[in-house]
Amino acid sequence: MNKNSKKLTKNQRIVLEFVQKSNRPVKAYSILNNVNKRGIKAPPQVYRALEKLIKIGEIHKIESQNAFVACNSKCVEPHGTIFSICKSCDQIDEISDKKLYKYLSEVRDMNGLKLSGYNLELFGTCKTCDQKHLQNTNQ
Ligand SMILES: [Zn+2]
Ligand SMILES: [Zn+2]
Repeated sequence: MNKNSKKLTKNQRIVLEFVQKSNRPVKAYSILNNVNKRGIKAPPQVYRALEKLIKIGEIHKIESQNAFVACNSKCVEPHGTIFSICKSCDQIDEISDKKLYKYLSEVRDMNGLKLSGYNLELFGTCKTCDQKHLQNTNQ
């Protein structure tokens, strides 16, 4: 949670609270279904709230799943996010590796593009799934 939260509108706060309470990425329609009873009825209201929350870094989009997660405050900047995603259970964590962020901020392509944002997703197997897999192969 960061200092921008106070300036949120009612709809933005409702959407943010719901995404924060979910412990896995949520899709826009699922957000809409759940905030319905709190007065948000139209998809554009959800999208507008999400757009703003993403802009201020309270929420990130997981592009590969077209879903949204609340920022766990580990990221260094709102326009640069790095997530680790378990391919077996979809466990997602926001990676806080200052060296990696610093390295990325200095990346230039051959045309001299100055990086202004990125959305990295690293895929693998989480500890829990890895152990389950080991147990299964030992049997
Ligand atoms: Zn974050
Ligand atoms: Zn897993």
